[in-house]
Amino acid sequence: MDELAQMIDPRRADVRIEFGVARAEFAQQTANRAAAELWLAIAEILDEARLAPDVYVDSTLPIRAGERSEFAVRAAAADLAVRLRISEPAVRGHAFDADTLRTRLPRLWAMFCDGDVTPSNARTAADLVRSLPDEAGPAARFDDALAGIAELAPGRFRMRARVLRERIHSIALAERVEAAAHTRGVWIDNDIDGMAFLTMKLPAEVAHRVFARVDSHARTLAREADETRSLAQLRADAAGDLLLDGILEGGRVPRVSVAVTVPVMTLLGHEEEPGILEGYGPIDAQTARRLAAHAPSFTRLLTHPVTGALLDVDRAVYRPPADLKRWLEVTDVTCAFPGCTRLARNSDIDHIVDRQFGGQTRAGNLVHLCRHHHRLKHMTRWTVRATDRDPGCRVEWSSPTGHRRAQDPPPF
Ligand SMILES: [Zn+2]
Repeated sequence: MDELAQMIDPRRADVRIEFGVARAEFAQQTANRAAAELWLAIAEILDEARLAPDVYVDSTLPIRAGERSEFAVRAAAADLAVRLRISEPAVRGHAFDADTLRTRLPRLWAMFCDGDVTPSNARTAADLVRSLPDEAGPAARFDDALAGIAELAPGRFRMRARVLRERIHSIALAERVEAAAHTRGVWIDNDIDGMAFLTMKLPAEVAHRVFARVDSHARTLAREADETRSLAQLRADAAGDLLLDGILEGGRVPRVSVAVTVPVMTLLGHEEEPGILEGYGPIDAQTARRLAAHAPSFTRLLTHPVTGALLDVDRAVYRPPADLKRWLEVTDVTCAFPGCTRLARNSDIDHIVDRQFGGQTRAGNLVHLCRHHHRLKHMTRWTVRATDRDPGCRVEWSSPTGHRRAQDPPPF
Protein backbone atom coordinates (compact mmCIF):
# COMPACT_ATOMS: atom_id res chain seq x y z
CA MET A 1 0.00 0.00 0.00
CA ASP A 2 1.47 3.41 -0.92
CA GLU A 3 2.00 6.22 1.58
CA LEU A 4 -1.09 8.26 0.63
CA ALA A 5 -3.39 5.25 0.80
CA GLN A 6 -2.06 4.52 4.29
CA MET A 7 -2.59 8.12 5.40
CA ILE A 8 -6.31 7.89 4.60
CA ASP A 9 -6.86 4.22 5.45
CA PRO A 10 -10.06 4.22 7.57
CA ARG A 11 -9.14 0.92 9.19
CA ARG A 12 -6.50 2.75 11.21
CA ALA A 13 -7.69 4.30 14.48
CA ASP A 14 -5.20 7.23 14.26
CA VAL A 15 -6.54 8.09 10.78
CA ARG A 16 -10.15 8.01 12.01
CA ILE A 17 -9.16 10.23 14.96
CA GLU A 18 -7.40 12.71 12.65
CA PHE A 19 -10.55 13.01 10.52
CA GLY A 20 -12.65 13.32 13.66
CA VAL A 21 -10.50 16.19 14.94
CA ALA A 22 -10.78 18.00 11.59
CA ARG A 23 -14.55 17.54 11.70
CA ALA A 24 -14.72 18.98 15.25
CA GLU A 25 -12.50 21.94 14.29
CA PHE A 26 -14.71 22.70 11.32
CA ALA A 27 -17.86 22.45 13.46
CA GLN A 28 -16.35 24.75 16.09
CA GLN A 29 -15.52 27.40 13.51
CA THR A 30 -18.99 27.10 11.98
CA ALA A 31 -20.59 27.47 15.43
CA ASN A 32 -18.48 30.59 16.15
CA ARG A 33 -19.54 32.13 12.84
CA ALA A 34 -23.15 31.20 13.48
CA ALA A 35 -23.04 32.84 16.93
CA ALA A 36 -21.73 36.09 15.42
CA GLU A 37 -24.47 35.90 12.79
CA LEU A 38 -27.13 35.33 15.48
CA TRP A 39 -25.96 38.26 17.60
CA LEU A 40 -25.83 40.54 14.55
CA ALA A 41 -29.28 39.54 13.28
CA ILE A 42 -30.80 40.19 16.73
CA ALA A 43 -29.02 43.56 17.06
CA GLU A 44 -30.27 44.65 13.63
CA ILE A 45 -33.86 43.61 14.37
CA LEU A 46 -33.85 45.62 17.61
CA ASP A 47 -32.43 48.61 15.67
CA GLU A 48 -35.28 48.26 13.14
CA ALA A 49 -37.82 48.10 15.95
CA ARG A 50 -36.39 51.26 17.48
CA LEU A 51 -36.53 53.14 14.14
CA ALA A 52 -39.87 51.74 12.92
CA PRO A 53 -41.88 51.13 16.12
CA ASP A 54 -45.20 50.91 14.27
CA VAL A 55 -44.44 47.30 13.35
CA TYR A 56 -44.69 46.45 17.03
CA VAL A 57 -46.81 49.22 18.60
CA ASP A 58 -50.19 50.56 17.41
CA SER A 59 -49.47 53.97 15.80
CA THR A 60 -52.65 55.51 17.28
CA LEU A 61 -51.58 54.76 20.87
CA PRO A 62 -51.18 58.16 22.61
CA ILE A 63 -47.56 57.85 23.94
CA ARG A 64 -44.34 59.80 23.45
CA ALA A 65 -42.00 58.83 20.58
CA GLY A 66 -39.24 57.67 22.95
CA GLU A 67 -41.65 55.43 24.83
CA ARG A 68 -43.02 54.07 21.57
CA SER A 69 -39.50 53.04 20.52
CA GLU A 70 -38.75 51.49 23.91
CA PHE A 71 -41.96 49.41 23.87
CA ALA A 72 -41.23 48.37 20.28
CA VAL A 73 -37.78 47.11 21.31
CA ARG A 74 -39.27 45.21 24.25
CA ALA A 75 -41.92 43.65 22.00
CA ALA A 76 -39.27 42.72 19.42
CA ALA A 77 -37.06 41.13 22.11
CA ALA A 78 -40.04 39.12 23.42
CA ASP A 79 -40.91 38.06 19.87
CA LEU A 80 -37.32 36.90 19.24
CA ALA A 81 -37.12 35.12 22.60
CA VAL A 82 -40.25 33.10 21.81
CA ARG A 83 -39.23 32.30 18.25
CA LEU A 84 -35.60 31.45 19.07
CA ARG A 85 -36.53 29.62 22.31
CA ILE A 86 -34.09 31.67 24.42
CA SER A 87 -34.75 34.12 27.28
CA GLU A 88 -35.48 37.81 26.76
CA PRO A 89 -32.36 38.86 28.73
CA ALA A 90 -30.31 36.61 26.40
CA VAL A 91 -31.79 38.40 23.36
CA ARG A 92 -30.97 41.81 24.85
CA GLY A 93 -27.51 40.57 25.90
CA HIS A 94 -26.62 39.33 22.41
CA ALA A 95 -27.70 42.66 20.87
CA PHE A 96 -25.77 44.64 23.48
CA ASP A 97 -22.60 42.57 22.92
CA ALA A 98 -22.87 42.80 19.13
CA ASP A 99 -23.28 46.60 19.32
CA THR A 100 -20.33 46.95 21.70
CA LEU A 101 -18.06 44.76 19.57
CA ARG A 102 -19.04 46.36 16.27
CA THR A 103 -18.47 49.90 17.48
CA ARG A 104 -15.57 49.55 19.94
CA LEU A 105 -13.67 46.35 19.01
CA PRO A 106 -14.10 46.11 15.21
CA ARG A 107 -10.99 43.95 14.71
CA LEU A 108 -12.09 41.32 17.22
CA TRP A 109 -15.63 41.47 15.83
CA ALA A 110 -14.30 40.71 12.32
CA MET A 111 -12.39 37.70 13.69
CA PHE A 112 -15.57 36.53 15.47
CA CYS A 113 -17.52 36.79 12.19
CA ASP A 114 -14.79 34.70 10.48
CA GLY A 115 -15.19 32.00 13.13
CA ASP A 116 -11.77 32.60 14.76
CA VAL A 117 -13.11 33.76 18.16
CA THR A 118 -15.42 31.77 20.44
CA PRO A 119 -18.66 33.39 21.72
CA SER A 120 -17.27 33.08 25.25
CA ASN A 121 -14.16 35.16 24.46
CA ALA A 122 -16.26 37.65 22.47
CA ARG A 123 -18.55 38.13 25.48
CA THR A 124 -15.59 38.61 27.85
CA ALA A 125 -14.09 41.22 25.50
CA ALA A 126 -17.39 43.12 25.23
CA ASP A 127 -17.78 43.13 29.02
CA LEU A 128 -14.26 44.44 29.58
CA VAL A 129 -14.28 47.15 26.92
CA ARG A 130 -17.51 48.55 28.38
CA SER A 131 -15.60 49.14 31.62
CA LEU A 132 -13.06 51.35 29.78
CA PRO A 133 -13.80 55.09 29.51
CA ASP A 134 -15.74 55.92 26.34
CA GLU A 135 -12.74 57.14 24.31
CA ALA A 136 -11.48 55.89 20.95
CA GLY A 137 -7.75 55.60 21.82
CA PRO A 138 -7.84 53.03 24.65
CA ALA A 139 -10.51 50.93 22.91
CA ALA A 140 -8.43 50.78 19.69
CA ARG A 141 -5.33 49.69 21.64
CA PHE A 142 -7.41 47.11 23.53
CA ASP A 143 -8.80 45.81 20.21
CA ASP A 144 -5.27 45.28 18.81
CA ALA A 145 -4.08 43.60 22.00
CA LEU A 146 -7.10 41.26 22.15
CA ALA A 147 -6.69 40.24 18.51
CA GLY A 148 -3.27 38.88 19.47
CA ILE A 149 -4.63 36.63 22.24
CA ALA A 150 -8.01 35.65 20.75
CA GLU A 151 -6.97 32.00 20.40
CA LEU A 152 -6.50 31.50 24.16
CA ALA A 153 -8.90 29.22 26.04
CA PRO A 154 -11.63 31.12 27.97
CA GLY A 155 -9.98 31.14 31.42
CA ARG A 156 -6.59 32.28 30.11
CA PHE A 157 -8.22 34.82 27.78
CA ARG A 158 -10.13 36.42 30.64
CA MET A 159 -7.00 36.50 32.84
CA ARG A 160 -4.82 38.13 30.18
CA ALA A 161 -7.51 40.48 28.86
CA ARG A 162 -8.15 41.77 32.39
CA VAL A 163 -4.45 42.65 32.77
CA LEU A 164 -4.30 44.31 29.32
CA ARG A 165 -7.31 46.40 30.31
CA GLU A 166 -5.46 47.59 33.44
CA ARG A 167 -2.52 48.75 31.31
CA ILE A 168 -4.67 50.53 28.73
CA HIS A 169 -7.10 52.27 31.09
CA SER A 170 -6.75 56.04 30.86
CA ILE A 171 -7.66 56.64 34.53
CA ALA A 172 -4.77 55.94 36.92
CA LEU A 173 -5.00 52.57 38.68
CA ALA A 174 -4.68 54.18 42.15
CA GLU A 175 -7.71 56.35 41.45
CA ARG A 176 -9.78 53.37 40.28
CA VAL A 177 -8.70 51.29 43.28
CA GLU A 178 -9.92 54.02 45.60
CA ALA A 179 -13.29 54.22 43.87
CA ALA A 180 -13.69 50.43 43.64
CA ALA A 181 -12.88 50.01 47.35
CA HIS A 182 -16.28 51.57 48.09
CA THR A 183 -17.94 48.56 46.43
CA ARG A 184 -16.59 46.06 49.00
CA GLY A 185 -19.13 43.95 50.87
CA VAL A 186 -20.32 40.55 52.07
CA TRP A 187 -23.33 38.75 50.57
CA ILE A 188 -25.25 35.59 51.40
CA ASP A 189 -27.19 33.56 48.80
CA ASN A 190 -29.20 30.48 49.57
CA ASP A 191 -28.58 27.30 47.62
CA ILE A 192 -30.61 24.06 47.66
CA ASP A 193 -30.25 21.00 49.94
CA GLY A 194 -29.29 22.89 53.08
CA MET A 195 -26.38 24.85 51.62
CA ALA A 196 -25.69 28.58 51.15
CA PHE A 197 -23.01 30.76 49.56
CA LEU A 198 -21.10 33.43 51.46
CA THR A 199 -19.44 35.88 49.07
CA MET A 200 -16.99 38.63 50.00
CA LYS A 201 -15.66 41.44 47.86
CA LEU A 202 -12.38 42.70 49.33
CA PRO A 203 -9.28 44.60 48.19
CA ALA A 204 -7.28 42.04 46.15
CA GLU A 205 -4.31 41.92 48.52
CA VAL A 206 -6.59 41.15 51.48
CA ALA A 207 -8.61 38.54 49.57
CA HIS A 208 -5.46 36.76 48.37
CA ARG A 209 -3.97 36.67 51.87
CA VAL A 210 -7.21 35.33 53.32
CA PHE A 211 -7.35 32.63 50.65
CA ALA A 212 -3.64 31.78 51.07
CA ARG A 213 -4.16 31.33 54.80
CA VAL A 214 -7.24 29.12 54.41
CA ASP A 215 -5.56 27.15 51.62
CA SER A 216 -2.33 26.65 53.55
CA HIS A 217 -4.23 25.34 56.59
CA ALA A 218 -6.31 23.00 54.40
CA ARG A 219 -3.13 21.61 52.84
CA THR A 220 -1.58 20.98 56.25
CA LEU A 221 -4.67 19.02 57.33
CA ALA A 222 -4.77 17.12 54.01
CA ARG A 223 -1.36 15.61 54.74
CA GLU A 224 -2.63 13.82 57.84
CA ALA A 225 -2.97 10.07 57.34
CA ASP A 226 -6.61 9.67 58.42
CA GLU A 227 -7.88 12.78 56.58
CA THR A 228 -10.59 11.88 54.05
CA ARG A 229 -11.97 15.35 53.18
CA SER A 230 -11.11 16.88 49.79
CA LEU A 231 -9.05 20.06 49.59
CA ALA A 232 -12.16 22.08 48.68
CA GLN A 233 -14.01 20.70 51.74
CA LEU A 234 -11.01 21.38 54.00
CA ARG A 235 -10.80 24.99 52.78
CA ALA A 236 -14.51 25.49 53.43
CA ASP A 237 -14.20 24.03 56.94
CA ALA A 238 -11.13 26.15 57.74
CA ALA A 239 -12.82 29.34 56.49
CA GLY A 240 -15.96 28.57 58.50
CA ASP A 241 -13.94 27.91 61.69
CA LEU A 242 -11.91 31.08 61.27
CA LEU A 243 -14.91 33.32 60.71
CA LEU A 244 -17.10 31.78 63.41
CA ASP A 245 -14.62 31.28 66.25
CA GLY A 246 -11.45 32.95 65.07
CA ILE A 247 -9.55 29.70 65.60
CA LEU A 248 -8.52 26.85 63.36
CA GLU A 249 -8.95 23.14 63.94
CA GLY A 250 -5.71 21.83 65.50
CA GLY A 251 -4.92 25.32 66.75
CA ARG A 252 -2.11 26.00 64.29
CA VAL A 253 -1.97 29.38 62.63
CA PRO A 254 -0.08 28.82 59.38
CA ARG A 255 2.42 31.40 58.24
CA VAL A 256 1.52 32.26 54.66
CA SER A 257 3.09 34.49 52.14
CA VAL A 258 1.85 36.06 48.93
CA ALA A 259 4.45 37.54 46.56
CA VAL A 260 4.37 41.14 45.46
CA THR A 261 6.59 42.14 42.52
CA VAL A 262 7.60 45.79 42.50
CA PRO A 263 9.62 47.66 39.85
CA VAL A 264 12.70 49.19 41.52
CA MET A 265 11.81 52.73 40.41
CA THR A 266 8.33 52.34 41.88
CA LEU A 267 9.75 51.14 45.18
CA LEU A 268 12.02 54.16 45.31
CA GLY A 269 9.05 56.40 44.57
CA HIS A 270 10.44 57.70 41.25
CA GLU A 271 7.72 56.07 39.13
CA GLU A 272 4.11 54.99 39.46
CA GLU A 273 4.46 51.76 37.42
CA PRO A 274 2.06 49.17 38.98
CA GLY A 275 3.30 46.19 41.01
CA ILE A 276 2.07 42.63 40.49
CA LEU A 277 0.24 40.75 43.22
CA GLU A 278 0.84 37.02 42.87
CA GLY A 279 -2.22 35.20 41.53
CA TYR A 280 -4.04 38.48 40.80
CA GLY A 281 -2.17 40.87 38.51
CA PRO A 282 -1.45 44.61 38.58
CA ILE A 283 -1.94 46.57 41.79
CA ASP A 284 -1.40 50.32 42.13
CA ALA A 285 2.11 51.61 42.92
CA GLN A 286 1.14 53.00 46.32
CA THR A 287 -0.29 49.68 47.56
CA ALA A 288 2.69 47.78 46.09
CA ARG A 289 5.13 50.06 47.94
CA ARG A 290 3.19 49.71 51.18
CA LEU A 291 3.08 45.89 50.97
CA ALA A 292 6.76 45.63 49.99
CA ALA A 293 7.84 47.86 52.85
CA HIS A 294 5.66 46.96 55.79
CA ALA A 295 3.78 43.69 55.47
CA PRO A 296 5.80 40.72 56.75
CA SER A 297 3.51 38.16 55.13
CA PHE A 298 4.49 39.24 51.62
CA THR A 299 7.50 37.99 49.67
CA ARG A 300 9.03 41.02 48.04
CA LEU A 301 10.44 40.74 44.52
CA LEU A 302 12.12 43.57 42.66
CA THR A 303 12.25 44.01 38.89
CA HIS A 304 14.81 45.76 36.70
CA PRO A 305 13.73 49.25 35.56
CA VAL A 306 14.33 48.58 31.85
CA THR A 307 14.01 44.84 31.16
CA GLY A 308 11.44 44.03 33.84
CA ALA A 309 13.51 40.94 34.79
CA LEU A 310 13.42 39.80 38.41
CA LEU A 311 16.39 41.19 40.34
CA ASP A 312 16.02 39.73 43.76
CA VAL A 313 13.92 37.44 45.88
CA ASP A 314 13.83 38.57 49.49
CA ARG A 315 16.84 36.55 50.69
CA ALA A 316 16.37 37.45 54.31
CA VAL A 317 13.23 35.30 54.37
CA TYR A 318 13.94 32.41 51.99
CA ARG A 319 16.71 29.83 51.79
CA PRO A 320 18.16 29.02 48.34
CA PRO A 321 16.12 25.89 47.42
CA ALA A 322 12.95 27.66 48.55
CA ASP A 323 14.15 30.71 46.63
CA LEU A 324 14.25 28.80 43.37
CA LYS A 325 10.78 27.35 43.97
CA ARG A 326 9.42 30.78 44.89
CA TRP A 327 11.06 32.43 41.87
CA LEU A 328 9.48 29.82 39.59
CA GLU A 329 6.07 30.19 41.22
CA VAL A 330 6.09 33.90 40.56
CA THR A 331 7.45 33.75 36.99
CA ASP A 332 5.28 30.83 35.87
CA VAL A 333 2.10 32.22 37.53
CA THR A 334 0.06 29.20 36.39
CA CYS A 335 0.45 25.61 35.24
CA ALA A 336 2.36 25.59 31.91
CA PHE A 337 -0.28 23.59 29.99
CA PRO A 338 -2.08 25.69 27.32
CA GLY A 339 -5.33 27.08 28.65
CA CYS A 340 -4.78 25.96 32.25
CA THR A 341 -5.41 28.61 34.94
CA ARG A 342 -4.44 26.61 38.03
CA LEU A 343 -1.97 28.68 40.00
CA ALA A 344 1.70 27.71 40.06
CA ARG A 345 1.79 27.81 43.84
CA ASN A 346 -0.79 25.00 43.92
CA SER A 347 1.02 22.98 41.24
CA ASP A 348 3.90 20.47 41.13
CA ILE A 349 7.36 21.38 39.88
CA ASP A 350 8.31 19.10 37.02
CA HIS A 351 11.66 18.48 35.30
CA ILE A 352 11.25 19.24 31.56
CA VAL A 353 14.07 16.80 30.78
CA ASP A 354 13.69 14.00 33.30
CA ARG A 355 16.47 13.49 35.83
CA GLN A 356 17.03 9.94 34.57
CA PHE A 357 17.91 11.41 31.13
CA GLY A 358 20.35 13.93 32.58
CA GLY A 359 17.89 16.78 33.30
CA GLN A 360 19.18 19.21 35.91
CA THR A 361 17.43 20.90 38.82
CA ARG A 362 17.85 24.46 37.58
CA ALA A 363 15.31 27.12 36.63
CA GLY A 364 15.59 26.52 32.87
CA ASN A 365 14.67 22.84 33.25
CA LEU A 366 11.87 23.23 35.79
CA VAL A 367 8.27 24.09 35.06
CA HIS A 368 5.02 24.12 37.03
CA LEU A 369 2.32 21.60 36.12
CA CYS A 370 -0.93 21.15 37.99
CA ARG A 371 -1.61 17.60 39.21
CA HIS A 372 -3.94 16.87 36.27
CA HIS A 373 -1.49 18.00 33.56
CA HIS A 374 1.47 16.50 35.40
CA ARG A 375 -0.22 13.09 35.18
CA LEU A 376 -1.13 13.70 31.54
CA LYS A 377 2.53 14.35 30.72
CA HIS A 378 3.77 11.20 32.46
CA MET A 379 1.00 8.75 31.64
CA THR A 380 0.09 9.65 28.02
CA ARG A 381 1.83 10.54 24.75
CA TRP A 382 1.67 14.27 25.49
CA THR A 383 5.26 15.59 25.48
CA VAL A 384 6.89 18.85 26.44
CA ARG A 385 10.23 20.36 25.43
CA ALA A 386 12.11 23.50 26.41
CA THR A 387 12.10 26.37 23.93
CA ASP A 388 13.75 29.79 24.05
CA ARG A 389 11.58 31.65 21.55
CA ASP A 390 10.96 34.38 24.16
CA PRO A 391 11.39 34.78 27.92
CA GLY A 392 7.68 34.33 28.61
CA CYS A 393 7.39 31.08 26.67
CA ARG A 394 9.70 28.45 28.07
CA VAL A 395 8.08 25.25 26.79
CA GLU A 396 6.35 23.83 23.76
CA TRP A 397 3.84 20.98 23.84
CA SER A 398 3.21 18.18 21.34
CA SER A 399 -0.12 16.38 21.50
CA PRO A 400 -0.46 12.62 20.94
CA THR A 401 -2.02 13.40 17.54
CA GLY A 402 0.94 15.54 16.48
CA HIS A 403 -0.45 19.00 17.21
CA ARG A 404 2.17 21.47 18.44
CA ARG A 405 1.37 24.34 20.72
CA ALA A 406 3.60 26.83 22.55
CA GLN A 407 2.94 27.65 26.18
CA ASP A 408 0.43 30.52 26.57
CA PRO A 409 1.95 33.99 27.08
CA PRO A 410 2.31 34.87 30.78
CA PRO A 411 -0.92 36.44 32.07
CA PHE A 412 0.78 39.33 33.91
ZN1 LIG B 1 -2.79 22.43 34.42
